[in-house]
Amino acid sequence: MQLSLKETFVREIESIRKELTEKDSPLGIELPEGLKQFSTLVVELLKDYEPVLFVDPCYGACDVKANRAKELGCKTLLHFGHKEMKGARKTSIKTLFIPLEYILENEQFEFIVSEIKRLGLKKINLVTTAQYLSSIERIKRLLERDGIEVLASRKTKRLQEHQVLGCDASNITDKSSPIVFIGDGYFHADNISYSHKRQDIYVINPLARATEKRSLNELFLRQRYAAIAKAMECKSFGILVSTKTGQNRIRLARSIKHKLEGVGKTAYIFASDYINENYLLGVAVECYINTACPRIAYEDFTSFKKPILSATEVEQLIDIKKKIKIDQIR
Ligand code: SF4
Repeated sequence: MQLSLKETFVREIESIRKELTEKDSPLGIELPEGLKQFSTLVVELLKDYEPVLFVDPCYGACDVKANRAKELGCKTLLHFGHKEMKGARKTSIKTLFIPLEYILENEQFEFIVSEIKRLGLKKINLVTTAQYLSSIERIKRLLERDGIEVLASRKTKRLQEHQVLGCDASNITDKSSPIVFIGDGYFHADNISYSHKRQDIYVINPLARATEKRSLNELFLRQRYAAIAKAMECKSFGILVSTKTGQNRIRLARSIKHKLEGVGKTAYIFASDYINENYLLGVAVECYINTACPRIAYEDFTSFKKPILSATEVEQLIDIKKKIKIDQIR
């Protein structure tokens, strides 16, 4: 029987408790936004280890608060909901990643395979998120048994084979065969459709037993060109840099500042952990350039009163004839 998210959560905490000793106390804990409802539960279950739970928004393995946990005297950090980015810098204290993977049922494996067969796909790129990654090998075996070729996916310093992030799908090296994304939600699938525009993309959600063909969102492109057009009229720019471990692109921010100044604009670099326009109230710039998580400019732009461009859109701002390139962190 499929475990509920809460049951999965409790099972993972019970298993991680076996790895903990009194040397891990006090314990820092990071939970992604979607799991905040379990905050008090996790603290209760780990109360023997003097836990401190960070409540700042956390959306990925790019945001590991090991340094801040250390400042609070924590000896170990538990980071829930994501897999470790292998190429990331070594954390300053022991950090354990608990991705909370879904354990798929036999019928969910069968659903995935039967959907790919129903779509008539013979050769595919197969990708998913950290939550389904442990199921990929079995899905591959089942597909190959039925004569469907699963193309190789490379490992990168941020990605495991067949894994994608909301800002990185660079391990899909084949540029012509369809891409099948196993997962729920559109956050990751949309990033694939922006960065692999010419390929067919199918989203198979084994939990909802739903399949959808996802293509590049034309509305998204119109919104991006509208933001660029507004930004072209602006003279002063705030370049936003996040101090989160996997989002900090200060060198890119400096090179953008240099480029903007080269075309007669004024530019300033502003840093914060979490990027939020409220922190910039009263700051006299007309437009922002985001170098933090790319989704801030692409999905959260409506929460900003001023135009906000992605780091790659600075190229169109300077020369509108250039093609829009999606911003990825690699
Ligand atoms: S920077 Fe990438 S990994 Fe981090 S939250 Fe954004 S999309 Fe996810």
